Amino acid sequence: MAAPRLILILGDQLSPHLSSLAEGDPARDRVVMAEVAGECDYVPHHRKKIAFLFAAMRHFAERLRQDGWRVDYYTLDQDHQDLTDALLASRRDSGARQLLVTAPGEWRLLEAMKRQWPQKLGCTVRILDDRRFLCTTEAFRDWAECRKQPRMEYFYRTMRRATGLLMDADGQPLGGRWNFDKENRKRFDGEAPPPGPKRFNPDATPREVLELAEARFPDRFGDLQPFWFAVTEEQAQASLSHFLDHALPHFGDYQDAMDSGDDFLFHGVLSQYINAGLLDPLAVCEAAEQRYLQDKAPLNAVEGFIRQILGWREYVRGLYWLLMPDYREENRLASHRDLPWFYWSGETRMRCVSEAVRATREHAYAHHIQRLMVTGNLALLLGVDVKQIHEWYLAVYADAYEWVELPNTLGMVMRLSGLQALRRQRQIHPAHVRLLRRLPLQGEQRRGRQQLPVQQPLLAFYPPPPAALREAPAHEHDLQSLGPHGLEQAGRDPGPRRHPARGSRTPLGSLSELRIRDAEQWWCLPGSLKPSVGALIWPSLAK
Ligand SMILES: Cc1cc2nc3c(=O)[nH]c(=O)nc-3n(C[C@H](O)[C@H](O)[C@H](O)COP(=O)(O)OP(=O)(O)OC[C@H]3O[C@@H](n4cnc5c(N)ncnc54)[C@H](O)[C@@H]3O)c2cc1C
Repeated sequence: MAAPRLILILGDQLSPHLSSLAEGDPARDRVVMAEVAGECDYVPHHRKKIAFLFAAMRHFAERLRQDGWRVDYYTLDQDHQDLTDALLASRRDSGARQLLVTAPGEWRLLEAMKRQWPQKLGCTVRILDDRRFLCTTEAFRDWAECRKQPRMEYFYRTMRRATGLLMDADGQPLGGRWNFDKENRKRFDGEAPPPGPKRFNPDATPREVLELAEARFPDRFGDLQPFWFAVTEEQAQASLSHFLDHALPHFGDYQDAMDSGDDFLFHGVLSQYINAGLLDPLAVCEAAEQRYLQDKAPLNAVEGFIRQILGWREYVRGLYWLLMPDYREENRLASHRDLPWFYWSGETRMRCVSEAVRATREHAYAHHIQRLMVTGNLALLLGVDVKQIHEWYLAVYADAYEWVELPNTLGMVMRLSGLQALRRQRQIHPAHVRLLRRLPLQGEQRRGRQQLPVQQPLLAFYPPPPAALREAPAHEHDLQSLGPHGLEQAGRDPGPRRHPARGSRTPLGSLSELRIRDAEQWWCLPGSLKPSVGALIWPSLAK
């Protein structure tokens, strides 16, 4: 009989249709799954995210055993520092000479697999494509590189044509339009009560990992209770059905809304399941399409939802692999301020910020508008160090993996659109300004009439003087005077601070800290006072 092989399954590869499993043979090969400290710690992942993934991994391992696979499963308390430690134990035990693995979603790990693992493990490493995505990285590269304007909207149309989703027999989009964005801008008025995500009582497996996470990460950011995530494919399917039945019909209308009384509105809360492999993205889109064809959900809702998965999700993934590894080092707006402590503590008088952080701490979830318009825009305005804000987003959300988080953070929040970099342009995206102008958001008052406070300084932030953005570092001084960096005009270094996530608050009193406090004061002013006081506080913004 041929020598056995090892098949490594990562925590976000919990799909029975994975390419490495399809390639393997249960009679010959061994599956390896491992909970390792190194993967929990390289950023301080939210405790609920860790518990979710470990519980889902343990259930998946059990399912594979039932399907006839031999599985070597290493738990966190077996103290393997990294994946190669665990793999070495299995390789020695099995005599395997080859490792099969589906490509990981992170450049760091892929590089290590290619360059270090063969030597470390003493066997060949065969990396297979991740076929759970609808567009291969090569196809995305071909598409992007031969286009003058590789915009998401055009990519999305290509994907609609390729999959036939929401297309008629003549190859035209159903309803005669590709995009129903204009219909999807309603202010949330509370008329349709949001159903919230489906919640599950944790069975013995999540209960076990919850105890483990409590013991192992006692001081880490993130509530473990209440724990209601799906941790099996069946439960994730039930979550999808719940969304399709109860939330999808309103998804489009309130897609861009925010309400301080509700953490989920009509969002799917499915990204952690899709990204971990418990739900298949194409099947999710097809199920949504069926709801339209059966007249159970309107086209603006279904198209809006499918666009997020078929369009945005695939687009950001293509972008990530196209632009790494340089992308990760991008900081063209020279943002260097430390992440304010309230991103961890939630202790700020900016209510929409404290609400977003509270939801994040409680659920390892915040919906897109909170991530983009609240914590994201504030980070841009304050000029938060790109690496720090990237690591924050990567740590705190249950759906966060670098391939999806980084392009969202860099491209959408910090205005470092990689495709623009590709073309050596330095522009801020006008679509964002349009979204800000029409945002039907409620910031400080539930169902009141106020604008979200971050709007005013952001609108003042745009558009940047084009000359200043064109050629850094020659125009570095211009960049420094732009937007958030105007706040640093005194040129003082904020100085070292202790990280709030590690147990202490940022000491007050430094220039930068006072400015953050000024921003908070301003944020909480009545709307009528904001423009004049804003002109003082955001000097370079309120021109
Ligand atoms: C700064 C920032 C960081 C983000 N980090 C992540 C991340 O780490 N992981 C992640 O999955 N999403 C991320 N997003 C995108 C988006 O916010 C989440 O996908 C969404 O909030 C997940 O909640 P949901 O399932 O309720 O989504 P819905 O609003 O119900 O959307 C449906 C699905 O579309 C997909 N989707 C929607 N928007 C995006 C997008 N911009 N990029 C990729 N997929 C999208 C998701 O799979 C989501 O489940 C980030 C956005 C921003 C602005």
